[in-house]
Amino acid sequence: MKVISIDKTEWANGIEKTKSIYRLFGPVKENTWHSFMPLGPGEQPDMAYGNSRLSPKFLVHPQTEPMFEYNLDEKQADHHVLKEIPKDVSPKAIIGIRPCDASAFLLVKRNFDTPTYKDPYWLTAYNSLTLIGYACNQPCSTCFCTTAGCGPFHEEGLDAILVDAGDRYLLKALTEKGEAYIQSAGWATSAPSDADQSIEKLKSTAEKAIASHVSTDKLRNQSTTQLYDAPFWEEIAFSCINCGTCTYSCPTCWCFDIQDENHGKCGVRMRNWDSCMYPLFSLHGTGHNPRGAKAHRVRQRFMHKLKYYVDKYDNGIQCVGCGRCIRLCPVNIDIRKVCNQMNSYDPAACVCPV
Ligand code: SF4
Ligand code: SF4
Repeated sequence: MKVISIDKTEWANGIEKTKSIYRLFGPVKENTWHSFMPLGPGEQPDMAYGNSRLSPKFLVHPQTEPMFEYNLDEKQADHHVLKEIPKDVSPKAIIGIRPCDASAFLLVKRNFDTPTYKDPYWLTAYNSLTLIGYACNQPCSTCFCTTAGCGPFHEEGLDAILVDAGDRYLLKALTEKGEAYIQSAGWATSAPSDADQSIEKLKSTAEKAIASHVSTDKLRNQSTTQLYDAPFWEEIAFSCINCGTCTYSCPTCWCFDIQDENHGKCGVRMRNWDSCMYPLFSLHGTGHNPRGAKAHRVRQRFMHKLKYYVDKYDNGIQCVGCGRCIRLCPVNIDIRKVCNQMNSYDPAACVCPV
């Protein structure tokens, strides 16, 4: 598709224009990190960032999402009736989403959009979004996207991709939604004929800068039960404090819980982020907990991402290599090491402690 050239002096003006059509979100600096925030009049995205601390998954799967409201007052005609809370389906756009985070939406979509079940909340929010990606010219040292089915200039899942080319941005629409966003900004200057070559050069440099890799080629052929029973889980889990940071910061984690919260005679049913790292997440009503020990929960997280998902969808691992869980884990548990350990596991060669 056609590449548009945006002089950086024209950038803010275009961004401002899009706000008349879209509710715009972009990276904003908070203390020492960046977060995706709504951009009000006059507010610009801070494009000088590596990646946000939390992924923008909350725009599709909010941390707390009110689903229904009800009242328990029997004097009211509609008491004990669940009434759906209307959703904001107005067009929204994320400017500056990194390719890994956009790709993560596609992985998660396999869970929320199936032939037999279509999650109305997730799908409505996802469909109302336009994703204007921002290619990573300088990936972080913890990024391993190129071996996790993604890449610093990966286009899948994006509506347009923006590349920083020094004094200008190069912007390429990838879908009709992307074209509509570019039109709304009024950016229409065609890039010079060598723009595609410039993008390829930056892409190649960025990919070469990624020094961090995982091996995933043997995961599918590994025996699920042998991996489940592997002796390394206790050691991996030893330092974990079950804080849940890895799951909350991960763009591909989707665990949630549904709760009713009453205030007097009114109530709201909502779904909240949850985490497989928490003991309560899998606690049964009987009191039995199939993942009562810390090692069981740590094993579940990695088995889900690197084995169950791989077997179920035959479409890579449930990870885009963003590196957040590596950067943020307070005890330095590293999914790259666990992935390589699972991939190369050979029970015959394993010397188990007696
Ligand atoms: S961030 Fe680290 S310590 Fe916290 S739950 Fe995840 S693996 Fe455990
Ligand atoms: S598992 Fe870690 S590296 Fe992979 S997508 Fe989630 S946060 Fe990023």
